[in-house]
Amino acid sequence: MSDGSSFYITTPIFYVNDVPHIGHAYTEVAADVLARWHRQSGDDAWLLTGTDEHGQKILRTATANGVTPKAWADRLVETAWKPLLKTVDIQNDDFIRTTDVRHEVNAQKFLQHLFDAGHIYTGEYEGYYCVGCEEYKQPSDLVDGTGEFEGQPVCAIHSKPVELLHEKNYFFRMSTFTQQLLDLYESNPNFVQPESARNEVISFVKQGLSDLSISRSSFDWGIKVPWDESHVVYVWFDALLNYITAVGYGQDDEEFARRWPATHVVGKDILRFHAVIWPAMLLAAGLPVPTQVFGHGWLLVGGEKMSKSKLTGIAPSQITETFGSDAFRYYFMRAISFGQDGSFSWEDLSARYQSELANGFGNLASRVIAMVVRYCDGEIPTAGEFSQADELIRGTERRATAAAMGAVDRLAIHEAIAAVWELVDELNGYITSQEPWALAKDPAQRDRLDAVLFTAVRGLGTLAVLLSPVVPRATARLWTALGGVGDVADQRIDQAWEWTGGTHVSPLEALFPRIEATVG
Ligand SMILES: [Zn+2]
Repeated sequence: MSDGSSFYITTPIFYVNDVPHIGHAYTEVAADVLARWHRQSGDDAWLLTGTDEHGQKILRTATANGVTPKAWADRLVETAWKPLLKTVDIQNDDFIRTTDVRHEVNAQKFLQHLFDAGHIYTGEYEGYYCVGCEEYKQPSDLVDGTGEFEGQPVCAIHSKPVELLHEKNYFFRMSTFTQQLLDLYESNPNFVQPESARNEVISFVKQGLSDLSISRSSFDWGIKVPWDESHVVYVWFDALLNYITAVGYGQDDEEFARRWPATHVVGKDILRFHAVIWPAMLLAAGLPVPTQVFGHGWLLVGGEKMSKSKLTGIAPSQITETFGSDAFRYYFMRAISFGQDGSFSWEDLSARYQSELANGFGNLASRVIAMVVRYCDGEIPTAGEFSQADELIRGTERRATAAAMGAVDRLAIHEAIAAVWELVDELNGYITSQEPWALAKDPAQRDRLDAVLFTAVRGLGTLAVLLSPVVPRATARLWTALGGVGDVADQRIDQAWEWTGGTHVSPLEALFPRIEATVG
């Protein structure tokens, strides 16, 4: 894990017309935590995110707003999506837009390659099309409309009528990859995770795959099919290619070889696109399939999936303005088992903020630093002899580091944080039982006091390094207050417990200040 090997991780690219909500921020934070963790583990980490900007719906909205689709997308990228990344401190290495020249040109190269190799043919397609989903729907994806759409079939996701379309299309021979995909899932059980997602994908593919219509001729906002400019590329086919065009596919072989393949973190609603269509496309092109496709669960608010149409959309800034970006990142990574559905509530967020961040971690840091100032004039003591209690803390530091690393390898971010929190809890218990304030009253206990404060400071340093990917702002401040050299984000996680302390502490404002306002 620490040999400088590539760790390329992607989020789904944002559908530019969406309104940012905490579900988008959740995916971004998870990928960002993983990227930061791997970077601090010595890997060649690379985090990609971006925007999906083609398709009929975007063309329609732009037209309705009296601007070109490109101008419409430009506006949304700058006013909605890049600000979202800032709100939750995403440290992405690249931001790709499907309207970037590097994407359009190289997506065309990919398509031409598949066409030349015989994986694409011309056919006729008739079917029900949902503009909201940008895809043809199977009869099983439709339900009976209600209210104003009574008597019409509607998309089960959008509750809006579908359109019956009939067009000449280019088709990708996806059906020919059915067995190769099943072999892939079988030989590499980690390819799709978690297990529930894997099982769903396998049973879907076992039914046999249809060929995929990959072009549209009824509108022109998209990448032109290189051998027939009257067609544009189906928006999903276009969008999936961002993961390779962003790292040099078609134009920079060295960069592409360095980065690809990637780990894809996706919501489970778009799992099939990533775990079925995408690897089939790559197999057709003779390219390596992704390292892993990990489908995370849905965020539920009041028992409903987060979405604007359900009126449960919560802007991430509503949370960060009160609690801060670190608390946002911590809460969603800690409270929800990554891969499972999870419920958000203001009460739960508030309770965890208070008990875990403010009282558990923040207060520990404040107390230890205040004692070093009071009893040692701010000079971090060196320890002579360690007691059994000190050695137990040492053991926990090593154990928490190893457990957290193992958990992150399985993308079990919640387990990694829980492992680190054992150290938070043990350090709090250690301070209570060792009573440094009592030791300080007895000059004969000076060596013991030094050993206790040294152990506590070193433990805080270990925590700062291990928690830096999750709460980067608080740990940067803590690291500085502990006299740590350099940036905490540059410290190696696999050696987190080896840090032995700086020379002096400096004052630390509360890492997680008390929040008085009622929220919700
Ligand atoms: Zn739909």
